[in-house]
This record gives sequence, C-alpha cells and structure tokens, in this order.
Amino acid sequence: MDTSDRIFLKKLCREDTREARARWEHLLESVIASPKAELHCHLAGSMRPETMKELAETIPGLDWSYCNEGFGFEVFQKISEGDIEKVKRYLEYRKPRGSLADYMIAYALPKTVMANEDAIRRVVFEVCEDNYREGVRYLEIRFNPKMISERVGIRDYIKAVVEGLDMAEERFQGLRAVLLLSLVKDYDAKTVEMIFDEVMEVNGTPEVGGRVKGVDSAGNEIGFSITSQAGVFEKARKAGLGIVCHAGEAFRSLEEGISVIQEAIGLLGAKRIGHGLAAGIDARRLIGKDDLYGKRYDEKRAEEITERQKRLRKRLREEDVLIEVCPSSNVHTGNLASISEHPLGTFIADGIPLAICTDNRWISHTKLSWEIVRMAKCLDLDFQTLDRIIAAPFRYTLEKIARPNKSGD
Ligand SMILES: [Zn+2]
Repeated sequence: MDTSDRIFLKKLCREDTREARARWEHLLESVIASPKAELHCHLAGSMRPETMKELAETIPGLDWSYCNEGFGFEVFQKISEGDIEKVKRYLEYRKPRGSLADYMIAYALPKTVMANEDAIRRVVFEVCEDNYREGVRYLEIRFNPKMISERVGIRDYIKAVVEGLDMAEERFQGLRAVLLLSLVKDYDAKTVEMIFDEVMEVNGTPEVGGRVKGVDSAGNEIGFSITSQAGVFEKARKAGLGIVCHAGEAFRSLEEGISVIQEAIGLLGAKRIGHGLAAGIDARRLIGKDDLYGKRYDEKRAEEITERQKRLRKRLREEDVLIEVCPSSNVHTGNLASISEHPLGTFIADGIPLAICTDNRWISHTKLSWEIVRMAKCLDLDFQTLDRIIAAPFRYTLEKIARPNKSGD
C-alpha cells in the first residue's frame, strides 16, 4: 500500500469502527496483491497529472488552443504557476458534473501535451507502470489516434504507443499489454473507416506486430447513433478483432439507453459493453422525473422499462456478453447520483459476466483496486463473489472474445 491507498481508505472508512477499518485495509491489501485484468482504460484519461505538468513545461511551442477552448485559459496559468496539487485539484473530477460531454472536455489537456512521440511513449509506459504496481497483469489500453494525429500522424502515433508497451513489458515481468482502437461515435462514417483502415495497415507491420486486438465504439452517446459504425465493425469482425462498445452509459431516456445496448450486441456484434448502466438502473427511482425529451417517468412506464431491462439482462447472460463496470466514472459523468445507485448488485444477481474497471484513472482520480474495494464495501460483497469478479475479466480478453466470422468469408 502507498500513501494514496491510505488516503483512499481513510475516506472510504470515515464512519467505520477501528475493527471495520482494519478489515477493509486487509481487503485492499489482498485486492492489490491479486493478479488483475484491466479491460477499460483510456490512454489519455489515465496519464499522471505530474507528467502533464512536466510535458506542459518542457515541450516548446505547444498549441494551447484546444485546451483553452475546453477548459478556459485558467488551466494553463495553473500549470505554469507550478503548484501540482492545485493542478491536480483542478483536473480531477471528484464531484459529479453535468454530463458525459462535460467530463470529456478533460481530454483537452492530454491532447495538448501528447505532442510528440517521446511524450506518447512516456505516457504509455507510465500507464502500464501504474497498473502493474497495483497488481494488474493483463492490461488493455484504448486509444483514439485521431485525437492527436494532426501533429504526429496515425502511423507514428501507433508505433510510439507500441514502443511504450514494449518498454513496459520488458521492465515489468509478467505484464501483458495490448491495444484497443476506440472509434468515436461523433465522427462521420467515412472518417471512422479511414482511421480503421490506416490503423489496420500499421497493425500488420513487424514493428506493431498485431498489437491492436480489438475495436471499441466510444465517445458521446447522446445525439449520435452507432448504426453508422456497423460497416466498419463488420470489417473488424472479419479481421478477427474483439468487438467492444460503450453503450447505455449516457442517454436521453432509459428506453433509448436499453436500445443502444441491444444495437451494440445485435448490430455491431459487441461481446463486451462499456458501462451498460441502462440495463440495470432502477427505473422506479425515476418516477416523477422527466427524461431529456421532457417526458415524465410514471409508474406504468417504469414497469415497462423494468421488463425490458430483465429481457436485456437475460440476453447478456445467455449470449455471454460482459459488462465493463466503471463506478466512479459513472458518478463523475453525472449519470449516477452516487455509487450506491450503481446497478452492479443487479448484474451480479442475474449472473451477467462482469469486469470492474477504472475508465480514466486520472480524470476520476482512482485505481482499479480502489474501484473493486469501493464496490465491495457498497454492496457488502463476500470474498467468494469478490474473487470471482477479480478472476472473470481474464476470460474476456480481446483475443478470447474475437469470434471467427460465422459466414466463413
Ligand atoms: Zn470509457
């Protein structure tokens, strides 16, 4: 355990007796010691604030326009003032914000400072190191090469990422790290296809060696459909890649969130769903509230939603589709009012395959072990359940979920 683990425990066990606190400390130690698989980790959202500050100070001629647009000029001033604690407080989303779109503004800073190949290699290596130090032995890093491709270019970006992975695997014995390409929902179909094709071409080169093992649909769900990505995901399936989709994370209405998860499975062929909140959020809690269309949830509507959710969860279980659960992130994006509203307990009760994940270590100021212990405490999970939850993600790695193309071509 390090200092940050102790601070986490202190906050988590604020109201506990000394005995209870000792029990949770023991549990955290054993979770850190257990080999873990992290399936949902965005590269840019997981970089260290200290590194951001250093890169911001040392890379000459950074283009701050995107960052200032997102954050306002203030963030640059705070970085140049040099008070890392201030910078960290500013950057980390410890309190719920308005929406997923607000949360994603935080990517403006990594986009600004990951300005050359050295910076990219360093960030990748450090994300691997941070994961390894808390017991992660299988790590999937998601990346969106378009985010910084204006300066580095997709090819050089991926090569630098892979060099960072190689350096980490060489240094940290027993770590395996692979890549997952995130295709953003708000890009048009042509751009998405162009990115996919270019990444696949680079993926086939000896330097990259097929390190990209899967494709993910990411970005803002509200106002964007995944149907335009069907073609590129079919290509990805034929190429033998694992299919993953952020779905049911943020939605205008709970019914819409449920439909997106169904589309992700049926249309894109997703074998893992990122977040999947809509499959389990308690609809009765919404009675008397309006959805984003201004339509009220009443008792009858809540009942209908609950039935649809049950059918969806049955499908998830029967088709062996895993949900990547990211509890802190869901609170920080404003999609849950608190951790206690997370439907993880319902998912466990229904026997759905699960992985607890971080999403964005830096933005949510978290670690995988913290997310696991936080949920264990929230739901009072027993050791056997916890052991099962920690072991399950190893059976749903990108290579394992990649299905051979059924049509045979
Ligand atoms: Zn995510």
